[in-house]
Amino acid sequence: MQPISEMFDVVVVGGGPSGATAARDLASLGRKVLLLDRAGRIKPCGGAIPPRLIRDFDIPDHLLVAKVKSARMVSPSDQQVDMPIDGGFVGMVDRDVFDEWLRERAAQAGAERRTGLFGRFERDQSGSTMVYFEAREADGSSTERAVRTRALIGADGALSAVARQCLPGADRLPFVFAYHEIVRSPRPEGQFDGTRCDVYYRGTISPDFYGWVFPHGDTVSVGTGSARKGFSLRDSVVGLRDAAGLASAETIRREGAPIPLHPLPRWDDGQSVLLAGDAAGVVAPASGEGIYYAMIGGRLSAEAVDLFLETGDAKALRTARKRFMKMHGLVFWILGVMQWYWYSNDRRRERFVSICRDRDVQKLTWDAYMNKELVRAKPVAHVRIFFKNLAHMAGLARA
Ligand SMILES: Cc1cc2nc3c(=O)[nH]c(=O)nc-3n(C[C@H](O)[C@H](O)[C@H](O)COP(=O)(O)OP(=O)(O)OC[C@H]3O[C@@H](n4cnc5c(N)ncnc54)[C@H](O)[C@@H]3O)c2cc1C
Repeated sequence: MQPISEMFDVVVVGGGPSGATAARDLASLGRKVLLLDRAGRIKPCGGAIPPRLIRDFDIPDHLLVAKVKSARMVSPSDQQVDMPIDGGFVGMVDRDVFDEWLRERAAQAGAERRTGLFGRFERDQSGSTMVYFEAREADGSSTERAVRTRALIGADGALSAVARQCLPGADRLPFVFAYHEIVRSPRPEGQFDGTRCDVYYRGTISPDFYGWVFPHGDTVSVGTGSARKGFSLRDSVVGLRDAAGLASAETIRREGAPIPLHPLPRWDDGQSVLLAGDAAGVVAPASGEGIYYAMIGGRLSAEAVDLFLETGDAKALRTARKRFMKMHGLVFWILGVMQWYWYSNDRRRERFVSICRDRDVQKLTWDAYMNKELVRAKPVAHVRIFFKNLAHMAGLARA
């Protein structure tokens, strides 16, 4: 291989929501950025994004293929509870279009895009990091290439090769494996409501997570997830499509991917590497929501790397995790307890759907999801919900 002469301030591996955001932010700060993505695969994803993401990351309306105005919670006994969103909506994006748009925005901010598969990194005596990757050439062949960089961001998803190389144990974190089928939306709509998300809490659909039916305009994502080995996600989706009246809808794609369940205890290697998004394990427990957290993680990692490049102090890399956990650590903890308790058997799932009838529960849930803040406007209602939750958990209350 030729001597490695090309030098960047930052190489970002992975052009999903976290990597594309980090690359854009760093390029906007005037840093020389390489955004490396292997390309060629649409990220399997339900594609639901909250208004906070749309606001904070300036997502244009044309990327939203559907606007969801309510959620229907479905219990094991088929009890159905509708949770309308007062005056707002949840945006739905198609990840092939959304991710490419984010990568292109990063390029417009000055990041250089390349298609290639990250292989490994090494550090030399001078402290610079060499990143080796299989570059895809214009004629379709691949060649091993390498660049030098002062910092490396690993935003290469749940099975991050960067994390595996720099953080021992990163590959032993627990996952939910999620699988969905993209089907054609019924036309005419009939029973199907293209502005409603259906969420199934039912042991046969998932013994430890939930099943979903998310409208995407011309298509629908029907999926489920589980951490339990041996549970057939494909059979479960057959049942889910049946329950949702989508059994005979045309199937466009079948695909799955792991969802990490825990933020890694460290996101940096103490020298020049920092992780972001799924690579750092940041997906909200109970909901599996990861796009917003990936993008905020990408933003915080960009700020941490910028500080590192400014000061040369590798401790700056730690600020990304610290700031993220300060913002979202409590919510992740609460959601983790909720998943552990409410998703453990059908009796509890039945009760969980029942308490979703409560208007204050609905308001609190939507406020927390839409704005990513625990709203303090109704402290009395929150205390009541807290004790109601506690009473259910302790088995003192009945649905
Ligand atoms: C089935 C399913 C449904 C989901 N539904 C939702 C939902 O409705 N709403 C929500 O908010 N979240 C959802 N999530 C979670 C969400 O998809 C992720 O949390 C989010 O995509 C994480 O973004 P990321 O940028 O960290 O990683 P990713 O989106 O996984 O992006 C990683 C990028 O790295 C690239 N890459 C990987 N390895 C390499 C390599 N070696 N070299 C170069 N490039 C590489 C990939 O091509 C990819 O572009 C769902 C997940 C699954 C699996």
